[in-house]
Amino acid sequence: MLVIPQAILDNMVDHARELAPHECCGILSGKDQVIDECYRITNILATMSEADLSRFEGAKLSDLQRLSPEERADIAFQMDAKEMALTQRDIRSKGLDLLAFYHSHTASPARPSQTDIAIAMEFESYRSKLNLPEPFHLIVSLQNSHLPVIRAFRIQQSHAIEISINPLN
Ligand SMILES: [Zn+2]
Repeated sequence: MLVIPQAILDNMVDHARELAPHECCGILSGKDQVIDECYRITNILATMSEADLSRFEGAKLSDLQRLSPEERADIAFQMDAKEMALTQRDIRSKGLDLLAFYHSHTASPARPSQTDIAIAMEFESYRSKLNLPEPFHLIVSLQNSHLPVIRAFRIQQSHAIEISINPLN
């Protein structure tokens, strides 16, 4: 179970709505299973080169290469590395941990795509070197614009396991 203040859940939905039709992304900090703070991070996928895009899996890659940068950002995200580093520094200075990554799906359900799982597994491959705890992955879905849905997952060995969210008022 993951405890998240209602104000942070609302903030993530606001962020998703502001960036739509692009996907938004960000980081949540806290301790153990309790989220404390939300950091919005820039989605830089719209400006990535073809070489950078080669990290995406085959089927999706050919789709991505055919799209304009604007269209790419509608279907996927890549966090700005410099902002991520500054965020990690801020989180450490407060004695907290980077507990979760979040991003939005503007037109699909709140569950990890194959690309999301590939990105999470890539992060797993160097996470221990960064001395970070295993992260939760949250997805904000705007598929039903009147009823946004947020779901949380652990991603292990290319499988997504849902974790319940307990809103804290
Ligand atoms: Zn996604």
